[in-house]
Amino acid sequence: MADHTGKKVKNGTGMSLDTNSIKMTTLLSFVIFALFLVMVLWGLTNFFLNSYYERARAQEVIRTADALENQFSQDLSNFDTYAVQVADTNSLYIQLDTTDDSFIYDGTRAAKDLGDFKYDVEKIKRDLEASGQDSITQTERDSSGALSRLAYAAKVSADDSSVLVIIAPLYPDRVTVRIIRRMLIYISFIVLLVSFLLAFALSVRLSSPIENLTRSAKELSQGNYDVKFNGAGFTETKELARALNKASYEMEKTDFYQREIIANVSHDLKTPLTMIRSYAEKIIDITGDNPAKRNADLAVIISETERLNKLVSDMLSVSNLQSNNVEMHMETFDLVEAARSVYESFSVLASSEGFDMHFHPCKQAYVVGDRSRLIQVMNNFVSNAVKYSGDSKYIDIKLTKSSKKVTFHCIDHGVGIPSDEIGHVWDKYYRTSANHERGIEGTGLGLAIVKGLLNLHSAKYGVESEEGKGSDFWFEMETVKKPSAKKSGEEKDKKG
Ligand code: ADP
Repeated sequence: MADHTGKKVKNGTGMSLDTNSIKMTTLLSFVIFALFLVMVLWGLTNFFLNSYYERARAQEVIRTADALENQFSQDLSNFDTYAVQVADTNSLYIQLDTTDDSFIYDGTRAAKDLGDFKYDVEKIKRDLEASGQDSITQTERDSSGALSRLAYAAKVSADDSSVLVIIAPLYPDRVTVRIIRRMLIYISFIVLLVSFLLAFALSVRLSSPIENLTRSAKELSQGNYDVKFNGAGFTETKELARALNKASYEMEKTDFYQREIIANVSHDLKTPLTMIRSYAEKIIDITGDNPAKRNADLAVIISETERLNKLVSDMLSVSNLQSNNVEMHMETFDLVEAARSVYESFSVLASSEGFDMHFHPCKQAYVVGDRSRLIQVMNNFVSNAVKYSGDSKYIDIKLTKSSKKVTFHCIDHGVGIPSDEIGHVWDKYYRTSANHERGIEGTGLGLAIVKGLLNLHSAKYGVESEEGKGSDFWFEMETVKKPSAKKSGEEKDKKG
């Protein structure tokens, strides 16, 4: 899609060119860099070649003059041969004026071919004399500024009678410059081509793992959890692929649980609703006129409504715990006393239904927590023990106290939990496989609520269980000092 900013445009072939894509960005960066390099090269050649050449030539002339002066003072007999050779090799005009004679060694033929090459030797000699120095250097340009000469004059004999003059044509060697320019064209072309190819290769290498990942992500978004992310090529893309594979695994798990939950919840809701409906119909059609039968049917409807109510409020509790939306009323209280109240409320049921329930308290153990929520936790453990105690019907509620810790145990000798399922009993909606066979009713939410509440109290908790032998559900809390009478009534509110 082309946008109004012109970032993405269509080219002549109908293909869209996205200037924000990795391919285009790399390509453009490389091309811009190559162009910059070429411009620098051209700039250097055009603006600095001449001045660099002049400086190098001046240094060379001074070195040659030194060598000639040495030759003059040390080995005069070979001066001629040496001067001719130096003049020729370096394209120099050399003139040695002694008191008696003047010797000229002219190696500037190439320069002369390029144009007028004259330098007023007498003038520089006069300038040397006038300067009072041992040597002077001068540069002179012709009117066009293209041809110039570097002149050097030095007194070479002890009595100042001999003067050495060296003139170096400072012609910008047009042939050389032309060659250099031609070479530059080749170099520029090669640099541009190589950078374009490199940029292309790099952009393909950079974008291909990302394109792979995008392809896989699209498949994943269509619900294909089997897709595997592959970020081969770069450490960063491999890391990204690993993170995406993990995310996809988590999504699959969540999706699975969501389906499970929906299936469980709708089943759990449907059963009591069907019962309520059929008993209501029964009252209308059959038992409405018979008060005894009608009341019995109404009792079923009420119990099913209670079941529904419990299920819905458990679901709400889990959802609140999950979203951390639980208000906690923290206080310091005796856990042993709270456990005793739980025991007492169950012992009524115990005696009516033939349960053998025992309470084993320890010394007072004060803890900081939400009393009613911790009672809810203990109630849950005990009601599970009642539900899953099978034929044994023998339940122990025990509290143990060690240094600064108190542990609540609810021990039954009933059906127990298979070892491979024990890790899951705290998960929402989890019910062990044995439940289904036995037809024991439940929502699978009780222990998930217990887990959430105990986590809010930072309490440790767990279960030891053996299938067919029974279970010991426990939680452990830090004890605190018994509060003073005044303080014990105060409540600290905390949002969990
Ligand atoms: P439910 O409503 O099914 O009892 P819970 O969350 O309280 O849900 O328990 C989850 C599952 O853990 C139960 O369905 C049961 O299989 C297992 N469980 C809990 N308590 C006991 C126990 N005392 N003995 C054996 N199994 C238990």
